[in-house]
Amino acid sequence: MSTEIPGVVDASTVSAWSDEVDVLVVGFGIAGGCAAVESAAAGARTLVLERAAVTGGTSAMAGGHFYLGGGTVVQKATGYDDSAEEMFKYLMSVTPHPEPDKIRDYSEGSVEHCDWLEALGFEFERSYYPEKAVIQPGTEGLMYTGNEKCWPHFELATPAPRGHKVPVPGDTQGAALVTGLLTTRAEELGVEIRLETGATQLVVDGDRVVGVAWQRFEERGFIKAAAIVIAAGGFVMNKEMVAEFTPALAAKPFTLGSTYDDGLGIRLGQSVGGEALHMHEPFITAPVYPPSRLLTGIIVNKEGKRFVAEDSYHSRTSGHVMDQTDHAAYLIVDSEHIEHPIFQLTPFIDGWETIAEMETALGIPAGALEKTLTDYNEHARDGADPELHKQPPFVEPQDVGPWGAYDLTLGKALYAGFTLGGLRTSRHGQVLREDGSVVAGLYAAGACAANIAQDGKGYSSGTQLGEGSFFGRAAGRHAAAVNT
Ligand SMILES: Cc1cc2nc3c(=O)[nH]c(=O)nc-3n(C[C@H](O)[C@H](O)[C@H](O)COP(=O)(O)OP(=O)(O)OC[C@H]3O[C@@H](n4cnc5c(N)ncnc54)[C@H](O)[C@@H]3O)c2cc1C
Repeated sequence: MSTEIPGVVDASTVSAWSDEVDVLVVGFGIAGGCAAVESAAAGARTLVLERAAVTGGTSAMAGGHFYLGGGTVVQKATGYDDSAEEMFKYLMSVTPHPEPDKIRDYSEGSVEHCDWLEALGFEFERSYYPEKAVIQPGTEGLMYTGNEKCWPHFELATPAPRGHKVPVPGDTQGAALVTGLLTTRAEELGVEIRLETGATQLVVDGDRVVGVAWQRFEERGFIKAAAIVIAAGGFVMNKEMVAEFTPALAAKPFTLGSTYDDGLGIRLGQSVGGEALHMHEPFITAPVYPPSRLLTGIIVNKEGKRFVAEDSYHSRTSGHVMDQTDHAAYLIVDSEHIEHPIFQLTPFIDGWETIAEMETALGIPAGALEKTLTDYNEHARDGADPELHKQPPFVEPQDVGPWGAYDLTLGKALYAGFTLGGLRTSRHGQVLREDGSVVAGLYAAGACAANIAQDGKGYSSGTQLGEGSFFGRAAGRHAAAVNT
């Protein structure tokens, strides 16, 4: 696979265009589908090129969390107060390099966006799942999917559950319901979807992008468009790009992506000067819960020190594991609290009668773990964690031997992940250069664009589908309004 940035085609060299449209969308996953529907609804002649034989992309594989809030119909029906302001404050607090205008739009537009998604033809169940889990096992519509209740975030924004799950049980393929409905809606609006047809290069006229080169098996051609929306997914399937930008994702065996997550969308944007942001940031995770009782234990590195509040959202914990020596960490739980994780992603190493034996077995310096555990237990007896501010009910002393350890080390635990980097865009989805100027005629949305999800530590489940659909719509609307 290539890391190469494709060359551009000068419009003056194109002798014939196979089609001419107002808005051309590259890729039909959640972002491209939403862009196409909004563009066509605004009256633009809209064509989608989709490299695969079906629509849906990686989005159709997704469990189906959408991160939505501000007082959605589901939050209201289940009795949870939320406001756009609290959602804004929370997202600002977890995003390493926040773009306030986009976070403001996303928070203020979230209630309407939830209604818009449902108007495609489904309803999030008006029910709440109270457990700390990775995803609802059933069809419950709402749960916490981020660090809202973790320190310091609950001090910065009033917590509210914002993980809206589509009404499909299980942890994969639920979102296919939405991409299927989007496909139907797009067709009803007159969008042409050309399958097994990939965009290969951008066509430029001076500084403006005016079309794409396409390929369908052996057939090739050029399409002229007033605006082009790239919605072609991330790069987790491109081994070379992963090795260059997010090597931790190369060391884990489970890739969350589909065949065409090869970064071509990002590279197409770069070919005309678009800047790529957060390319080094993966979402990478090996959850230890459920059961959440395991989070009463402590997570330590090779030095025997704690480094993350154990009640964090799983990808925040995993993100901090990646910062430790040799990406190594252990979850240690005493015999009063030990239970096996429901999903066995972190292998159980062994149990030991004494902490000294455990230190020897794990290669932790003698006395280091003993001290960490003694300090933790001393405060935990009062229900406190002054070091890392883990919250009750997860603060319980771990003082009854024997003690067991789970391995969170990269390469030992079964980590899964995808890439978060993508093209820099405006709040309308316009692709931007390093100097902040707009690449005329070009938009990007979804996993090939950089918006709100910037690193695994601040990630909340549902942000990819949430922002992909939200900013996909914004790009489709703007592309139709400004360029037709
Ligand atoms: C198992 C799993 C579970 C997940 N669960 C969730 C979840 O619950 N919530 C959440 O927010 N995120 C989840 N994610 C992540 C999320 O699914 C993706 O980040 C998101 O779907 C990306 O959407 P997209 O529209 O940008 O890309 P995609 O859905 O991948 O769509 C891109 C489309 O572009 C096409 N394409 C690529 N290149 C070209 C080209 N050159 N020309 C034409 N077409 C092209 C592809 O074939 C594809 O159809 C999950 C991921 C996986 C794998």
